[in-house]
Amino acid sequence: MRRTRNAKIVSTLGPASSTEASIAELFEAGTDVFRLNFSHGTHADHQNYLDIIRRLESRFDRPVGVMLDLQGPKLRVGDIAGGSVELTDDMPYRLDLTGEQGDARRASLPHPEIFAALKADMDLLIDDGKIRLRVVECGADWAETRVVIGGTLSDHKGVNVPSAVLDLSPLTEKDHRDLRFGLELGVDWVALSFVQRPDDVAEARKIVGARAGILVKLEKPSAIDHLDGIIELADALMVARGDLGVEMPPEDVPGLQKRIIRACRHAGKPIVVATQMLESMIHAPTPTRAEASDVATAVYDGADAVMLSAETAAGGYAVESVAMMNRIVNRVERDPLYRTILEAERYDPEETAADAITAAARQVAQTIGASAIVTFTTTGSTTLRAARERPPVPILGLTPRGDTARRLSLVWGVHSVETVDLKDFREMVSKATDIAVREDFAVTGDRLVITAGVPFGTPGATNILRIAWAE
Ligand code: PGA
Ligand code: MN
Repeated sequence: MRRTRNAKIVSTLGPASSTEASIAELFEAGTDVFRLNFSHGTHADHQNYLDIIRRLESRFDRPVGVMLDLQGPKLRVGDIAGGSVELTDDMPYRLDLTGEQGDARRASLPHPEIFAALKADMDLLIDDGKIRLRVVECGADWAETRVVIGGTLSDHKGVNVPSAVLDLSPLTEKDHRDLRFGLELGVDWVALSFVQRPDDVAEARKIVGARAGILVKLEKPSAIDHLDGIIELADALMVARGDLGVEMPPEDVPGLQKRIIRACRHAGKPIVVATQMLESMIHAPTPTRAEASDVATAVYDGADAVMLSAETAAGGYAVESVAMMNRIVNRVERDPLYRTILEAERYDPEETAADAITAAARQVAQTIGASAIVTFTTTGSTTLRAARERPPVPILGLTPRGDTARRLSLVWGVHSVETVDLKDFREMVSKATDIAVREDFAVTGDRLVITAGVPFGTPGATNILRIAWAE
């Protein structure tokens, strides 16, 4: 089976989508990658999801990507007597490290790293920014604040400190446990939350190695300050607009989204746009016009993937949300303006053999009206470079490695297929054409543009471009 769009769909699993039948429906409606959100659920839940996905993979005979999303250092206030307290504008409120139950005058904030980084005039945002406290004075284990925006402060609500770089590892103890578990399960992507600096990515890389791709969620202002360094170390990125829109003014997010997509496309790293994409479909069978427009914008900008969170994990219309996203993406990609907009943002090849071949493949495919570009790849890197070209024809990613095939399911325009390694030239052509026909990308007489590397099976050796006819 083949999909008819370039941009991919990531769906988050949860209580609304936990059975084999419902996950199969999400896949059939258009999901390319499933996200397991480790902020929720037990290891047994996630094991169950993964087992189901791998069964579906064999049933549908398509590689399916699985993304493990680590909770990261999510900061929270401590216990409050009675569960909550009312904070009114302008009142003084104290935060400390005592660990004692909070009341109308103070609350515990059990994170020494926050106090170490606080300065007068910094703002603390609580509960997705619904409450705002401004630091008046602070010490190593306390802060006197003034309530700028009041509200009900409840137990364990999340805290954001946008203007501070906190001395936190992006991997908590829970993350380490979850990561070990997930790598053992064999997830394809690991998403890192609240990354602040390039070193955070390097630290995760030490553990993950090449066992999974590392996807960095951009949701902190400090990550935006270090965007280039982070992109360089990451395998993929996400515009995580949920937390980003709390850490930064919402009016900054659209421009940042465009800037991030461009930077990632330039680097050839897959970029996912996430959060609140079809938010109202949690409770309704159709989206708002603004949401449809938001999904479309990400697609026009050339993002690799768009993501659903609560819509599929906890919503009443999970399958409808995927189907709607699928329709919006398909519609945008059939708009003649879509090509014009993509072409306006084209990046020069880097000075490598792989880029020279890949850029030429796009050009040749366009000139001769090929029905697809077929890339032979081991690690997926050549196929990623082909996707960076955003060609006007589909890209087949043929690889002897199952993990590569699965990882490529996140990437713009790529239909990946696991197949045994090549032995010689003749096989290169016959395999490319057979698979293109079998997978519905070509019929007899169609032209294909093939890229590969000799000696066969050597990663990163792409040096051949071949035109072939499907039989
Ligand atoms: P989350 O990340 O859903 O795990 O918070 C995405 C975001 O913040 O947008
Ligand atoms: Mn987040």
